[in-house]
Amino acid sequence: MAGPPSIDPAEVQAATPIPRKLRKGVVTRKALCASCDIACSVVTEVQQGRVVRVRSSDNPIFRDNICMKGIVAPKGFAHPDRIRHPLKRVGERGSGEWQQVSWSEAMQDIGQRLNHIVAEHGPEAWAVSTSQWNTGTDHGLGRRLMNHVGSPNWISGVALCAGNTAAVNRMTYGWFPMADILQTRCIVLFGHNPKRHSWVPVYNQIRRAQAGGAKLIVLDPRKSENAEVADIWLPLKAGSDAAMCLGWLKVIIDEGLYDKDFIAQWAVGFEDLKKRVDEYPLERVAQLTGCEPEAIAEAARLYATAGPSVIPWTPMTDMQRNSTSAIRLQSILRAICGYLDIPGGEQLHGFHPDIVPESDIEMHHVLSREQQDKQLGSDTHPVFTYRGQRAFLEPGERVWGRQYNNQVTGCFMANPSATFRAMAGEGSYPVKAFFALGNNTLMSFANMPLILKAILNQDLVVVHEQFMTPTAQLADYVLPADSWLERPWLMDGYGWTSMYRPSQKSMDPPGECKSTFEFWRQLAHAIGKPDVVPWETLEAFYDDRLAATGMKFEEFAEKYEVYFAPPHFKKYEETGFATPSGKVELKSSVLQDLGLDPLPYFREDPPLGTEFPLMMFTGVREDEYFQTGHRHIPEMRQRAPEPYLFVSPGTAGEYALEEEEWVTVENQVGLIHMKVAIRDNMPDNLVRIPHGWWKPEVNPGLQNGLSDALKYADAMLCPDDADFLDREQGIPHLKGIPCRIRKNMEPPA
Ligand code: SF4
Repeated sequence: MAGPPSIDPAEVQAATPIPRKLRKGVVTRKALCASCDIACSVVTEVQQGRVVRVRSSDNPIFRDNICMKGIVAPKGFAHPDRIRHPLKRVGERGSGEWQQVSWSEAMQDIGQRLNHIVAEHGPEAWAVSTSQWNTGTDHGLGRRLMNHVGSPNWISGVALCAGNTAAVNRMTYGWFPMADILQTRCIVLFGHNPKRHSWVPVYNQIRRAQAGGAKLIVLDPRKSENAEVADIWLPLKAGSDAAMCLGWLKVIIDEGLYDKDFIAQWAVGFEDLKKRVDEYPLERVAQLTGCEPEAIAEAARLYATAGPSVIPWTPMTDMQRNSTSAIRLQSILRAICGYLDIPGGEQLHGFHPDIVPESDIEMHHVLSREQQDKQLGSDTHPVFTYRGQRAFLEPGERVWGRQYNNQVTGCFMANPSATFRAMAGEGSYPVKAFFALGNNTLMSFANMPLILKAILNQDLVVVHEQFMTPTAQLADYVLPADSWLERPWLMDGYGWTSMYRPSQKSMDPPGECKSTFEFWRQLAHAIGKPDVVPWETLEAFYDDRLAATGMKFEEFAEKYEVYFAPPHFKKYEETGFATPSGKVELKSSVLQDLGLDPLPYFREDPPLGTEFPLMMFTGVREDEYFQTGHRHIPEMRQRAPEPYLFVSPGTAGEYALEEEEWVTVENQVGLIHMKVAIRDNMPDNLVRIPHGWWKPEVNPGLQNGLSDALKYADAMLCPDDADFLDREQGIPHLKGIPCRIRKNMEPPA
């Protein structure tokens, strides 16, 4: 079958062989790859000031953790299209006309214009979107400066990916746990599909655990690579995770497979939960999920009895109409089976005692209650906003020693959809300045037509980027960003773990590329708040954070591959849980106080109509690409040259679709062009749309469809109206969007 070329890991490795001996003049540096959000430990080989090779770490814990994107990184960052100097817009917004300026000239003007907007509209008129990888090294400094200025309107892709999971997990037991995959006896993957070239460390850990006898349960509409090697595969309907978990709980509670002592001593709300779960007999769950009742029961029994078991974080559950319930249900399963904070289970790390965490750097306490209450979206969808997380301030201090525990940076965010509406002039107050750092915002959230309108409606748009992304093409200023090869990094697992890993700078950045740290430092000076970012260099900032270890950053980096305190299990027996009750809240007091259903539930997708008879989902990672990046790298494009949609042979037959033909996919939000790839592992009537397609080789500018982003981006099809938003968080349902396909539609030139 033709279509996108298959991935051959051996071929990728062979193309860049790991040398047995270093060539003369080559030195090595220890680094963390940030070409995706995993941060694999790697070794860079440097010759004459340039990185000539990236390979996996020699450390046995991290060995083999590398994918093709990490290997090809030096080439990707050396691409001629890399932005090397600050650019100021001189034509109409989006016209692609720029003038090169200096950093100081750019920052002076940006600072003055931002101060003017804040004076005219209030600090809340400034919104920022950042990503924690690639340009990275923000370290909470953006939040810190925003908090001092007085703006609560920070958004990020973590609203759809791990950050929201962290915020919801806190509702149950006060911290976002990390699955101990290597020591577990049973792994449950909800739609998650770690592969040799995606989520590589997780892939390697799962394979090692399986080799040691651990069971694997995969719940995925597709027969994914992990489903192929699972002990149990449940092909559940896309987006029905919450219904499936309710079914599992029904089995586990009815058959008495839960940890009764733990529930009696450490949980509240069990009887209420039981009543809710009774509303979901297996026959109903089977109808909602499309799986056989006996298969559902078998999987639930295996999870509850094979333990300790883990349900590792999955981005699939993060992006559903029922995300809050589904994430809560996964956390409830962990708790009632007694798998919390034990070896082989789900560990609640807390903070490392010797290192200043990013939660402290952010200084949320300086943002007044009045400004916190203006956070966009907190009135309608409060869960991950200040309003939703406020109840955890006291418990957080009691258990973890800090009031503002910001895990995966997702616990005090504004709602992205509400922010874009305010930017577009449709909110309760205006947002007139928008900054995007390492974040291709236009294509990274639902309802791209709205985001485009929002950005075009701004008085000031500033982007810090490595390449001229579609978002950067709409900016007033584009500041050139460094890469992970070109700066040091102190990595804390995004505040999720207490483990720290250092990354050494391997080479100088090209041109005038600078770090995110330097961006915030210069901005602090430009707006008259230099004391907010008082460090002169990134290294000095790290030195301060490491002061209690007695080491400077470079010594720390030389000495440690990973730095952590010995694990201490069942800490809750000494401190209780960091929830208002001090217990695991099966019925959430916080959700109840917010006026939301305190118990998990399942809200069904509306039935498909004749206008849009197919269901599509997006959000699966392609091996070659991370989010909207990497399309400029020839090696990646040779492997996956075009945006392919994936359908089953049955669906292809029904709609007379042929392999490799161009079609349009459309719905009530928009229309995009895709090439057809027919795959046996796809279920009928479900279409998989790849995330984040644009073509960097196409000319920039609105007149060119923003390098064809308007032609190919999945966000053009993702709705964000109330029917498609999770009620509690307000994140969009990306796992069940009605659409239709039309044949024979070559993309327009
Ligand atoms: Fe880099 Fe690949 Fe590891 Fe991601 S999975 S951090 S891209 S090597």
